[in-house]
Parts: sequence; C-alpha cells; structure tokens
Amino acid sequence: MSVAETGSIGAGAVIEADAVIIGAGPAGLFQAFELGLLGIKSHIVDTLKHPGGQCAELYPDKPIYDIPALPVCGAQELVDRLMEQIKPFGPQFHLGEEVNELRPREDGRFDLATGAGSRFIARAVVIAAGLGSFQPRRLGVEGADVFEDRQVHYRVRNTADFHGQRLVIFGGGDSALDWVIDLTGKATNLVHVHRRPEFKAAPASVARMRQLVAEGRMTYVEGIATGIRSQDGRLTGVTVKRTDGTLEQIDADHVLAFFGLHPKLGPIAEWGFELEKKAIKVDTARFQTSVPGIFAIGDINTYPGKKKLILSGFHEAALAAFAIAEYLNPAKKVHLQYTTTSPIMQKRLGVNG
Ligand SMILES: Cc1cc2nc3c(=O)[nH]c(=O)nc-3n(C[C@H](O)[C@H](O)[C@H](O)COP(=O)(O)OP(=O)(O)OC[C@H]3O[C@@H](n4cnc5c(N)ncnc54)[C@H](O)[C@@H]3O)c2cc1C
Repeated sequence: MSVAETGSIGAGAVIEADAVIIGAGPAGLFQAFELGLLGIKSHIVDTLKHPGGQCAELYPDKPIYDIPALPVCGAQELVDRLMEQIKPFGPQFHLGEEVNELRPREDGRFDLATGAGSRFIARAVVIAAGLGSFQPRRLGVEGADVFEDRQVHYRVRNTADFHGQRLVIFGGGDSALDWVIDLTGKATNLVHVHRRPEFKAAPASVARMRQLVAEGRMTYVEGIATGIRSQDGRLTGVTVKRTDGTLEQIDADHVLAFFGLHPKLGPIAEWGFELEKKAIKVDTARFQTSVPGIFAIGDINTYPGKKKLILSGFHEAALAAFAIAEYLNPAKKVHLQYTTTSPIMQKRLGVNG
C-alpha cells in the first residue's frame, strides 16, 4: 500500500472524522489540544493500550527537567497532565490498535484502517508516531516465528486457551510474573524461565512465584531460550540454556514470552512518504508531509535542525493545528487568539462562566 495509490479500504462501520491522529505520545496528545482550541475534534489511535508513548512505556518513573515552567515532572505525570488538559475537547481514543493502512480517497479525504478492524475516513491525518509502533520483543530463537500466535505468544488474548496445557513462560517483569501466578494450577505443567536472579516485577509477585515453586506447583529455571523443538509442524518444546551452562529440554504446548515492548517503524515505512533516517520529511511552516492533508509531528518527522524533544513536538503540534484548520476551511482565515482573552477558546475549554 502506498499513499500514491487511491481507493477505499473494504466495508464495515466507518468512523468519519475531521482529524485522525496516529500516536498518543506527548506530541499526539498535545495535537488534540491544539486542534480542540481551534474547534476541531479528533480521534487518536495508538498500538499501546495506554496513552503516553515513550514517556509511559519506556521511562514512566523518570523525571523530565526540560518542560517549560515545570522544573521537574515525572514522565507519567506529564502524560497525566496532558490527558487532563485535553479533557475539555473529548478526543476519542482507540487504544491497542495499530493503524496499518492509510490511503488517499478520490474525494480528497483519507481511508485509515487498524489491525483490530476499526476504519476511519478522515479529512486530515496527523502522524505522531514517534519512533514507531510499540511491538513486543520477540523470543529471538530460530523457528519461533513459524509458531507465532499459534503456540508462541507475546500477549494473552484468551486465558482459557492455556488451561490444561503445558506452558513455558519467559520474562522477569510484571506481565510475566502476573501470568505465571494466574496460570499456575490452570496449566497442567508450568515452567517459568528468566535470564537472571534480579526481577523487574513487583517484589510481592516474585515472592508469590517462589512460594508456588516451594509448594511444588510450578518450576523455575534461570536461563535463556536457545532453541525450539517441533514435530509434524507442531511445537513440542523449548531448549533452555541454564546460567550454569547446562541445557534443559522442556516439553511444552505453548510458549509465552514477555520481554517488554520496543518501537518499530512498522507500517509507516510502507506508506510511500519521503523518509530520512526513518523519519518523515515535513516543511517547518505547516509540518505537512509530501501529501497535502497528511501532517507529521514529534519524533516521527524530520527537517533541517530537528531535535527529538517533547518541546519540539509541542511547537509542531501548534503550527500543524493552524495549518489543518486552514486546510479544512480554505475560505476561512484562521486568526491567532490568546486563550487568556479569547471568549470562543475559553468556551471550548469550558472555563468561561
Ligand atoms: C529514556 C528516555 C528519556 C527521555 N527524556 C527526555 C527528556 O528529558 N526531555 C525530552 O524532551 N525528551 C525526552 N525523551 C524523548 C521523548 O520521550 C520523545 O521525544 C517523545 O516521547 C516523542 O513524542 P512523540 O509523541 O513524538 O512520540 P512517542 O512518544 O514515541 O509516541 C508515539 C506513539 O505512536 C504510536 N504509534 C506508532 N506507530 C503507530 C501506528 N502505526 N498505529 C498506532 N500507533 C502508532 C506508538 O505506539 C507510540 O505510543 C526521552 C526518551 C527516552 C527513551
């Protein structure tokens, strides 16, 4: 698929929108605010199940020191504050959905579709996709991809699929420990594998796991996966190299791995935009891409002098909002107004009388 091609994307319930924002990181969230001030409603789509992009996913507890007027602000706190700020404009969130298709229509609007089946027709699109769509880190052993979603899983869609099964669960974070605890007793056999003695998960969860091991209800192995065993097209087990160097063969019907998420450019690379070092080229007056009506802000864009900072994304969102307002209503001049004194902006914000 390319933005150069036109045509509509399938059938089904379609959401018609003035603006669809791809990405709920700080730039995408602030874009909804800036559009809201100008009276434009937006939909925000993100692969993650929560807003906040890198701030929420990669460093929620770390302090940020370069947000204007906030000498120090926790990364998750910044996301919470942005969510509070955009509340008056009620942007509609579509979380846990990756936009995998973006295509111009013959009527000048854009078709968008997500992997989860949502469809949009948007008059304008803002790509605020950061470093890309957050994807689970894979197991990293040869042949595992063949069994992905059948017997090798990076998320749990339906817990019942694992009841009465032999499971191997990898990982040392909260997701891994939560599923180890939840599925012990429901699986016929459960082995938990983690590469080192330290865990990222909550100490209470680690203590509970150790208690289950002591009670003989599950097994814990310290090591890493080195291979997959299969027979007649079905996965039959995994090979684990223990930290002492010995190899252990573990029989399994399903392997679940929770190694966290990392951003991957993903479908955006196939949309036909001019890219430079995995970023979309934009102009610095409107933050528009080479396709009129599609804008790009935040870490995903590039232009001479670009700095991948939250502050830059905020500035870009403000200018893109004015450009989008003009694009949606070319006949209407968009005047600069101050939130301090503009009755119409204050009405939109719900703050005047
Ligand atoms: C450890 C660390 C510390 C940092 N500290 C600072 C700091 O002190 N100050 C500072 O200014 N910056 C800092 N940064 C950088 C800052 O976090 C980024 O500049 C900022 O997050 C960019 O915001 P964004 O909204 O453009 O993108 P992101 O935060 O990356 O959000 C993009 C979102 O788009 C989603 N997405 C992508 N593709 C799709 C798709 N196809 N469909 C649906 N959703 C999609 C992703 O899942 C993601 O949630 C730091 C970064 C890191 C990693």
